[in-house]
Amino acid sequence: MERVLFLAHTEPDGRLGKAALETLPAALALGGETVIGLVGPSTAPAADQIAACGAVRFLAVEGAEFAVSRYATDRQAVEALCRESAATLILAPHSSRWVRALPGVSARLNGRVDTHATAISVVNEVPAVTRWFYRQRMEGVLTRAQRPWFVLLEPGCHPAWTGPGGCAALELLRVEPATRTIVTGLRASQAGEQTIRPDAPLLFVAGAGWTKKQADGVAHVEEAERLILDMLRASGASLGGSKSLVDLSGEGQAVLACMTHLNQIGQTGSTPRHPKGLSTCCHGEEPHVVGWRFITERRAINLDPNCGWARGKADVLYVADAFAVVREVNRLLEPRP
Ligand SMILES: Cc1cc2nc3c(=O)[nH]c(=O)nc-3n(C[C@H](O)[C@H](O)[C@H](O)COP(=O)(O)OP(=O)(O)OC[C@H]3O[C@@H](n4cnc5c(N)ncnc54)[C@H](O)[C@@H]3O)c2cc1C
Repeated sequence: MERVLFLAHTEPDGRLGKAALETLPAALALGGETVIGLVGPSTAPAADQIAACGAVRFLAVEGAEFAVSRYATDRQAVEALCRESAATLILAPHSSRWVRALPGVSARLNGRVDTHATAISVVNEVPAVTRWFYRQRMEGVLTRAQRPWFVLLEPGCHPAWTGPGGCAALELLRVEPATRTIVTGLRASQAGEQTIRPDAPLLFVAGAGWTKKQADGVAHVEEAERLILDMLRASGASLGGSKSLVDLSGEGQAVLACMTHLNQIGQTGSTPRHPKGLSTCCHGEEPHVVGWRFITERRAINLDPNCGWARGKADVLYVADAFAVVREVNRLLEPRP
């Protein structure tokens, strides 16, 4: 029987975020004894949030030094939690903070780590991790003999824990933070508006067509940017882009300032998870569409009835001018007095 450690860091509001709450039921479903391990400036609100989850112990490392994502201090905190819990299996949300710290801890404890897991279950009494390989083209299920085994679970793969709160009996571990690294602040990779919203119900993808000459013989990049941003604001959608569009800036062409390489969807971009996706002015070529693997319902707007989306890649293809469609959608989404 595994001894499972559910490992989470707190969010700026002191509580657990959605990805952590999704990971908790996956940890509990493994059976056996689950220990909670929390890291943050103060961890009681997070522990109380999940007090009724049935864990056998609530361990925490807390203090101002553990408020920020920093390898040195996160490594110390996690190592202490692992040693105290004597966990054989450590399940954590796939946050950028844990991805940075946990592989190092795994090496220090002579364990193994698997990132990008999409599920974990017990098969023949052995924990088995599911993840995708080769840019989301193949799904594999793997087990490991080495312990401790660290597994980072991707967000959006498991229903979040919704049980009642309470008052957890929190055990604080003493860790003297030792680091030469001072975190002076965070610099966003994007200068303008935040357009990547992993939890949005809709993925809105813009392709290079938005910057191409239109029926009147000229490009309308400024209008394109305005329409796209208005659409994002009104719908709360997350913005994705095709590689051709995000690469344009490097070629010195007129570009959408709201679009960076972080927005790129596809084989050499990201593979986000959203219930719905709407592609606009994007041809729907395979290296792009492979990034839509986890989009449940797919729709596309393209002038070309023969585009890639028409060949079984979209559930619905609107053969239409995306400028006209998005203009009208924005009008309908406008708040009414
Ligand atoms: C190894 C490799 C990896 C790659 N990885 C990726 C990747 O990760 N992501 C990715 O996106 N691509 C990737 N590509 C590139 C991919 O193959 C395509 O070249 C790219 O996706 C095309 O982008 P696009 O559809 O925006 O542009 P285009 O092919 O130029 O298509 C523009 C589309 O806009 C439509 N259009 C124009 N005006 C309008 C309008 N007013 N209304 C509606 N539709 C309009 C046109 O009909 C056209 O279909 C990769 C390629 C290779 C070789």
